[in-house]
Amino acid sequence: MFENTERTELSALGEFGLISHLSKHFTSKNESTVLGIGDDAAIVKLGNEMMAISTDSYIEGVHFDLMFHPLKHLGYKAVAATVSDICAMNAIPTQILVAIGLSNRFSLEAVEELYEGMRLACEKYNIDLIGGDTSSSRSGLVLNLTAMGRVEESKLTLRKGAQVNDLLVVTGDLGGAYMGLQILEREKKVFIEHPKMQPDLETYDYIVGRQLKAEARVDVIQLLDDLKIIPTSMMDVSDGVASELFHLGQASGVGFDIYEEKLPIDPQTIDAALEFDLNPSIMALNGGEDYELLFTIKQEDFDKIKNNPDFTVIGHATDMVNIYRLNTKAGNSFEIKAQGWEHFSSDNK
Ligand code: ADP
Ligand code: MG
Repeated sequence: MFENTERTELSALGEFGLISHLSKHFTSKNESTVLGIGDDAAIVKLGNEMMAISTDSYIEGVHFDLMFHPLKHLGYKAVAATVSDICAMNAIPTQILVAIGLSNRFSLEAVEELYEGMRLACEKYNIDLIGGDTSSSRSGLVLNLTAMGRVEESKLTLRKGAQVNDLLVVTGDLGGAYMGLQILEREKKVFIEHPKMQPDLETYDYIVGRQLKAEARVDVIQLLDDLKIIPTSMMDVSDGVASELFHLGQASGVGFDIYEEKLPIDPQTIDAALEFDLNPSIMALNGGEDYELLFTIKQEDFDKIKNNPDFTVIGHATDMVNIYRLNTKAGNSFEIKAQGWEHFSSDNK
């Protein structure tokens, strides 16, 4: 199947290169497979309905640090992050399956905490936990969650579909989860060096919450339906808007122009970025784990969203295929390079 004779480092391909390399020899054989690898979730047709299915792994030391991530929050976040990919298809989540790998470092009470967080998220998103798997792990806590959801065929929204001049919209605010992580890591270092010092998390409660306890925008999927908007393309913001722009643009065959002054950034994100000597707009573009939705709509749908502070138009699609331009507050324009969270790259875990 594969004809590599020499050793190739995974870092030479990157996460997305590896996925496309591995998947190119798999073609779908079943008529019910409407959409396979390459979007936020796969789509399977069941009668007149479409089912969206997506799986995500969360590995201790890679995706979370139990020194500052309470297990209850972690359980909640894992469900939210998995469900977010279902929302990205304009689908309503319905079920999840949870596989865990545990070491004997964990007590029953600890695992109960984790599951209490998952239960709260299931309540919040109105989804059922319908199964999973339990095994032992020698390398810390490993979680794998699979989420399912349903969507009418006419409302199914892919990464592909954005048309030139469509408006690019993002929900909520950006960069908070990333700056929250910077605060948590800083306080962890302080704690290791001075165990008696209390961590200073209150000033940044909102962004720390954005990192520790993400939310999936199931509410937005319901709202879009109420507003009678079907986005022309959509994905969720897990790796950072800059990286997601590339995915939407590549899948749709368009470019994007975005405007720095439009980027929705919470004041706490700005304060934290400035404290770390970082540019808040760059953090908003490149910070991951916000789990907001990034989508395009037709211009005529603008009136339906313009008064909702949860939706921000940050730019529009252009005919400059694969060119992603940031127009700065200072009036300059430059091309965005993808700097999202690519696994296996030399500076990542
Ligand atoms: P997201 O960030 O939205 O969860 P990913 O970047 O993880 O999406 O995955 C992109 C696409 O590649 C998805 O369709 C996913 O199902 C698929 N994919 C990821 N890893 C693998 C793998 N190891 N084998 C097959 N498909 C994969
Ligand atoms: Mg996604």
